[in-house]
Amino acid sequence: MLLLNPKRPLPLPLDPKSQELVGKTIAFFEAKGKAALRRDDLDRVWYADFLAFVKKEKLFATFLTPSAWGAASRWDTYRNAALNEVLAFYGLAYWYTWQVTILGLGPFWMSGNVAAKKETACLLEEGGIFGFGLSEKEHGADIYSSGMQLVPAGAGSYVARGDKYYIGNGNEAARLSVFGKIAGTDEYVLFAVDPRRPEYELVRNVVASQSYVAELVLHDYPVTEAELLLRGPAAWDAALNTVNVGKYNLGWGSIGIATHAFYEAIRHAANRRLYGMAVTDFPHVKRMFTDAYARLVAMKLFALRASDYFRSASREDRRYLLFNPVVKMKVTTEGEKVIDLLWDVIAAKGFEKDTYFEMAARDIRALPKLEGTVHVNIALIVKFMKNYFFAAAPCPDVPRRDDPSDDTFLWDQGPAKGLGTIRFQDSAPVFAARNEPNVAVFREQTALFR
Ligand SMILES: Cc1cc2nc3c(=O)[nH]c(=O)nc-3n(C[C@H](O)[C@H](O)[C@H](O)COP(=O)(O)OP(=O)(O)OC[C@H]3O[C@@H](n4cnc5c(N)ncnc54)[C@H](O)[C@@H]3O)c2cc1C
Repeated sequence: MLLLNPKRPLPLPLDPKSQELVGKTIAFFEAKGKAALRRDDLDRVWYADFLAFVKKEKLFATFLTPSAWGAASRWDTYRNAALNEVLAFYGLAYWYTWQVTILGLGPFWMSGNVAAKKETACLLEEGGIFGFGLSEKEHGADIYSSGMQLVPAGAGSYVARGDKYYIGNGNEAARLSVFGKIAGTDEYVLFAVDPRRPEYELVRNVVASQSYVAELVLHDYPVTEAELLLRGPAAWDAALNTVNVGKYNLGWGSIGIATHAFYEAIRHAANRRLYGMAVTDFPHVKRMFTDAYARLVAMKLFALRASDYFRSASREDRRYLLFNPVVKMKVTTEGEKVIDLLWDVIAAKGFEKDTYFEMAARDIRALPKLEGTVHVNIALIVKFMKNYFFAAAPCPDVPRRDDPSDDTFLWDQGPAKGLGTIRFQDSAPVFAARNEPNVAVFREQTALFR
């Protein structure tokens, strides 16, 4: 019941308008069909058909414009999770264009630049996609060393000089939010870039995929004060907070991919007869499917619960900052395990080019590595462990948050530092209230670990 099934009502109930849009998205992909999805994947076709659908249905405009800036829109982490899952269910490339739009929008919605926000809302309404220019070829995760510079050019204007690498949607974005430093002061800055201007050089697509992951150069690209989004510590915080908003989605990408692969695998195994029996009757195959299913459900339940913490967060309650890297690191690596288990069952079938599975086996690997590697996220999780295990404090209970409201705090998160001061409730009473044998094992493991 909890797994997405295109032929059944959505497992996560949504308000009627959101339900309709997610339903139309599913219908778009079902009408396109698996053969065309695979052909476009193998031929690395830019997904103009999907973007035309996004534009026609105002899909990104409705889901990704905070209610303050749109007529019938809101930013709702819970319903965004549903769309995340659906897009990845049909292919990582469709998910990726939405994901980098989310990242690209972060600095705009966090900015105090009202004119830029209004323009962003209009561009989304017109079907625009966005991108986030943080990474550089030489510096990887070390964004302190960013080399992109804004050189003062008099009267509050600047020219941008430098390159960016691995920038999704860099070919077609209506705008990119780009991270750099002001030359001379090294003050951090986030500014808006329009890829259509002549000073923007699109060098190449770095990856072999339907997605466009750009290497780009800004050649004395003129930037006015009106195109500055954030500067100083606020720009630094916004860059980190944008990644915090975005990286949560990688868990849902993994869930969508693993769910589709699960269906394909069980269908194949159930219909394949060896030695006079269905493959699904082998005891080890039953075990592998059960294991894969349990992991998949746990991935989904954990990611869902983390959404509650996102949506209830405030400057006083930032507990979501622990559950977020766990989704990013643990849910995505569990997704890899699900695919490994399923692949051991379907074996040769998983190589066939007309299966979804062949894409899944490749794409599931991406999610743990992007937007912070596994190690970067473990390093982040470790910062919370002292308070989580040894300094429990009374905290408000976080209810289930599937209400159709706008997650306004995401754009007003303030300083990204101070993680070591975040306190958590004692989790022991929650587990103490359960009698299941596996919960008892878990209690024991937790005590030993502690
Ligand atoms: C397909 C794709 C799409 C992408 N899209 C975008 C995009 O749209 N916009 C964008 O800005 N970037 C994008 N990226 C870049 C991506 O975010 C980077 O890959 C990421 O920042 C890590 O950098 P790196 O891969 O160069 O690894 P490196 O930074 O070179 O890391 C090397 C190793 O050092 C370890 N390490 C680094 N720092 C730490 C630390 N603090 N603690 C512990 N270990 C550490 C890492 O775990 C890793 O094992 C994309 C990348 C790809 C491949």
